[in-house]
Amino acid sequence: MKTNYHNHCYLDDGNGELFEHADSAIKNGLTGLGFSCHAPLPFINEWTLTTKTLPTYLEGVKKLKSEYKERLDIALGLEVDYIPGKMGPSSQWIKDLKLDYVIGSVHMLEDPATGTYYDVDGPDEGFLHLLKNVYKNDIKKMVAAYFHAEISLMEEHEFDILGHCDLIKKKNKDNKFFDQNEAWYRKEALGMLEVLAGKDIIMEINTGAIARGYQTEFYPNLWMLKEAFRMNIPITLNSDCHQPEKISESYTESMTIIKDIGYRELQILIDGKWLGKGI
Ligand SMILES: [Zn+2]
Ligand SMILES: [Zn+2]
Repeated sequence: MKTNYHNHCYLDDGNGELFEHADSAIKNGLTGLGFSCHAPLPFINEWTLTTKTLPTYLEGVKKLKSEYKERLDIALGLEVDYIPGKMGPSSQWIKDLKLDYVIGSVHMLEDPATGTYYDVDGPDEGFLHLLKNVYKNDIKKMVAAYFHAEISLMEEHEFDILGHCDLIKKKNKDNKFFDQNEAWYRKEALGMLEVLAGKDIIMEINTGAIARGYQTEFYPNLWMLKEAFRMNIPITLNSDCHQPEKISESYTESMTIIKDIGYRELQILIDGKWLGKGI
């Protein structure tokens, strides 16, 4: 069973019409497809839905869901950012949308001097601004802040899937800023995984950075996935698709790795419930 519950389209920072993603899912043998455009943010940005495009998105996915129901199990979701004290996956307005599922993700950290949020995964300037101005070039502090934001997200909000749990490594190709095997990094990442293990939240194996050439490995890294297995954290395989043709990018290789680690099932959304299905 192949599924993807992390999917963007032309309405946010992805490409392609909704139906193009659905057609590609069928062509690539997927049985389930969840749309998860970025939820609107309380400030202007280039990468999320807006309060104007949100209704278009919701109606569009609902329509597609009924049109494709004999061929593909389509689910309506959102990828929701965490902004402490302002919004997160269980904000009332998100609950009121009655979505099939929600991905909770941390993409941004705040510069407390200005109250501005900067992406850790967008243009390099944002990442470098945070590192230089907020964390005074101390990457350990920045990594710790990222994992702590994920911990607060999980402590304060209820949601289905934790998005790309080690996104902070996105700009770290060839260990440019840190080594994920160093003790201090392991400690921060493990602290986050331990909180995740105590919640009813699924960890995604996210192949998106491979599809876009930022990384040669998925999120999370291998040792984190081994720890997640040891902690019995349930997983699902997602492509964080931004282009219809990459809907199951690197799935075959990823599935082999997941099985080698010991996982025997992936979480699938069936009739509104997450169920473990054998792989
Ligand atoms: Zn994301
Ligand atoms: Zn995404």
